[in-house]
Amino acid sequence: MKSYDVAIIGSGPGGYVAAIRCAQLGMKTAIIEKYSTLGGTCLNVGCIPSKALLDSSHHYDDAVKHFETHGIEIPGEIKVNLEKMIARKQAVVDQTTGGIDFLMSKNKIDVYHGTGAFKDATHIAITGDTIKEIEAKYSIIATGSKPSTLTFATVDKERIITSTEALKLKEIPKHLIIIGGGVIGLELGQVYKRLGSEVTVIEYMDRIIPTMDSSLSKELNKVFRKQKFKVNLSHKVTSVERNGNEILVTAENKKGELVDFKGDYCLVSVGRSPYTSGLNTESAGVKLSDRGQVEVNDKLQTSTSNIYAIGDVVKGAMLAHKAEEEGIFVAETIAGQKPHINYNLIPGVVYTWPEVASVGKTEDQLKEDGVDYKSGQFPMRALGRSRASMDLDGFVKILADKTTDEILGVHMIGARCADLISEAVVAMEFRASAEDISRMSHAHPTYSEAIKEAALAATEDRALHI
Ligand code: FAD
Ligand code: NAD
Repeated sequence: MKSYDVAIIGSGPGGYVAAIRCAQLGMKTAIIEKYSTLGGTCLNVGCIPSKALLDSSHHYDDAVKHFETHGIEIPGEIKVNLEKMIARKQAVVDQTTGGIDFLMSKNKIDVYHGTGAFKDATHIAITGDTIKEIEAKYSIIATGSKPSTLTFATVDKERIITSTEALKLKEIPKHLIIIGGGVIGLELGQVYKRLGSEVTVIEYMDRIIPTMDSSLSKELNKVFRKQKFKVNLSHKVTSVERNGNEILVTAENKKGELVDFKGDYCLVSVGRSPYTSGLNTESAGVKLSDRGQVEVNDKLQTSTSNIYAIGDVVKGAMLAHKAEEEGIFVAETIAGQKPHINYNLIPGVVYTWPEVASVGKTEDQLKEDGVDYKSGQFPMRALGRSRASMDLDGFVKILADKTTDEILGVHMIGARCADLISEAVVAMEFRASAEDISRMSHAHPTYSEAIKEAALAATEDRALHI
């Protein structure tokens, strides 16, 4: 039996990053993955393929709607070849997951393909083509999450689908009904809207992307209405039925009335659940919470002290970069270092267009916490850069402490906000004030000038260009 310092179960962004860091720190490391490719949800059926389709569909949308305005004329009809688009996405996925194979071998990490199950706190059985057993001083559970389902909606993977199937459809839906106006519903909804589907979003809460600052929900909803999405807020889906190629979704509105929606595909995107099935956590004494998450303390240690857990399978935001930070944190903790994660500064991004990005506290949270704050906002449409690209929607909003001027939250929607948010993360990590940002030079013309202007607005209401 082979012995390791650390065995990691699951090769998503949490697991593979933890493996690399453990190897860098001189630990003999193994990683176990049940699927034939490494990279987990994020690389195979999550972040990377969804962004590949968002990029392809964005090009198409630009070609159809905006090229002519830019003076670009394409003779003949512009058509989508969905098969080719999905094949390109898959090529991006294959290249990216292949990159993880390379990184494992470069760092001399042993890769096992098969389902990992604890025999006890230091032994793991791996069931693949054959059954193997390894011994590990420390283990890291990084088994991620799976799509949550609704008891009354049978996902048949053909017409009633999750994000996994939505990333490889063989035809463009005529009418895609999306249950859940969260991140997955809106990103994948935008892909198919651009490709020509009618898209109806049904959201239980009174706003889309309900965990983000409400001003972002409002602005994105406004843009989506312009893009002819049908968004139904405060509607709780209560039944989903398939009749041949027709899907009937019924939802209860605020007044308690039942409303029917008919389409040919239905995407169920109502969140994700931690995945521990087959792991045999009981044999290792690892406790799960009522919600099925692996319970961890502030060192990400489970109820069994030599076993840690990270990423989607534990509490907190289900984000690839959160899983990565936790992977590094645990590797360094095992190595005897004293790492730190600032959970308040893990940014959240929605990759629709306009992009939506956020870090720190929302206005609602500040109000709830009784913090005396001030707000500075600047519209993207007032930027020269936005006019040049015709990306006029959105704004940057900076929330700062009324007395100290320390930045407490930054919320933005607009072109390239997914990248712009990093400036806010850096500023907040160094506890910058709004005035600090307002006095830093921002290249002209860039979208980032909206951050400087919002900071000026927050400082003394002295934005220059509105
Ligand atoms: P995962 O990536 O889920 O990896 C877990 C791995 O463990 C899987 O490969 C699984 O097969 C394996 N496994 C499970 N049990 C066992 C076992 N017993 N033995 C062996 N292997 C096992 N996040 C972002 O930050 N940005 C985005 O743009 C983004 N887009 C997304 C788009 C979609 C459509 C989806 C579904 C998710 C997206 N996410 C995004 C979320 C992101 O994918 C997850 O937060 C991230 O993958 C979590 O990483 P993880 O390492 O915890 O788990
Ligand atoms: P989500 O939690 O973002 O959204 C689910 C939505 O479904 C919620 O708004 C909820 O109110 C609604 N809902 C639940 N039950 C309902 C019902 N019966 N009727 C109507 N609406 C209902 O979940 P998701 O969009 O499935 O995404 C799952 C996870 O994946 C998220 O936690 C997210 O962090 C991650 N993810 C991240 C990205 C990104 O970072 N860009 C992209 C995709 C997914």
